Amino acid sequence: MAMRKRVVFLDRDDVVNKGRHHPSGDARNYVTKWEEFEWIAGSKEAIIRLLENDYFVAVVSNQACIGKGIVEHGDIRTIHNMMLDELYVATRLLPADKPKLLQGYLVGNLQFYICPHTEGDQCSCRKPAPGMLLAAAYEYNIHLPSAWMVGNQQSDIAAGLRAGVKNLIRIDASQGMLNSHIPANSLLNHGVIIPNLLHAVNYILEQDGVETEDHLEVIWCPECRTVQVASVEHTAPFFTHIHECTQCKYMILESEWNQTTTGEAPVEEDIRGC
Ligand SMILES: [Mg+2]
Ligand SMILES: [Zn+2]
Ligand SMILES: [Zn+2]
Repeated sequence: MAMRKRVVFLDRDDVVNKGRHHPSGDARNYVTKWEEFEWIAGSKEAIIRLLENDYFVAVVSNQACIGKGIVEHGDIRTIHNMMLDELYVATRLLPADKPKLLQGYLVGNLQFYICPHTEGDQCSCRKPAPGMLLAAAYEYNIHLPSAWMVGNQQSDIAAGLRAGVKNLIRIDASQGMLNSHIPANSLLNHGVIIPNLLHAVNYILEQDGVETEDHLEVIWCPECRTVQVASVEHTAPFFTHIHECTQCKYMILESEWNQTTTGEAPVEEDIRGC
C-alpha cells in the first residue's frame, strides 16, 4: 500500500500573503487582483520546502468577496495560478542537487480550496466550519489526525479542530521568536503560536522527524535594512550563527537577524532607541 503523504492545511491571507485590512469599504479588505497580492517574507520558500519534502499542501481560504459580488471565482483562480507560477519559478532556484520539482508535481501537490460564501449563507465550508478540510480529506484520502493546520485566526484553529486535525499552528507575528503553546487542550498533539510560516514549517519538519541538513530563516540585515531568506546550517550550540548579507556582505550575527518577525525591517526606534 502506498504510503500516505503528510499533509498541511494552510490558511492564505496573513499566513502566505499579506492580508488587506481597511476600516471602510469591503473591496479594500480583500486581495482582488494579482497586483494586490504580496508574499510574506519566507512564505514562498516555506511552501516549496513542504513540497520538496513530499508534503501535500491544501490552501483553505475564506473568500467572501465572491459572495459579496466584489470579485468572481475566475479572479481568485487567476491569483492562485499566478501563485503557482511564482512558486514554480522559485523552485528553479533550489540547489541543483535537490530534487527538481516539475510543474505538474507542484500543481498536483498544492491544491486550493475556497469558500465563496458570506457569513449569512450559513454554509458548511466557511471557516470555522470544517467543510474545506473535509472535502480535501475525502478527495485525497487524508489522515486528518496527523495533518497540520496553519492559520492566523481563531476560526482557522477551530476549523482544524472540528475536522479532527490534531496539530495546530497559529501564526502571530507579534509573538516574537519563541514558540508559545496554545492553551493546553487534550485534543491536540501540537498547538503552538509561531511568528511566521517559514518558522512554522521548520517546526513541522522537526516534529514530523523529517531530516533536513539546513534550516531556512527570515533574516533582516541591520546594515542595509533588507529582509532575506537564508539557509542556516545546523551547528553545535556553542557556535554563533553568522550570515553574510546577500546585498551588502555585512556579517549578520544571529542576535541581530531575529529582530524582525514580520518579514519587515523594524522601524528605526525599535532598534536604536535607548
Ligand atoms: Mg488568515
Ligand atoms: Zn462556504
Ligand atoms: Zn545588508
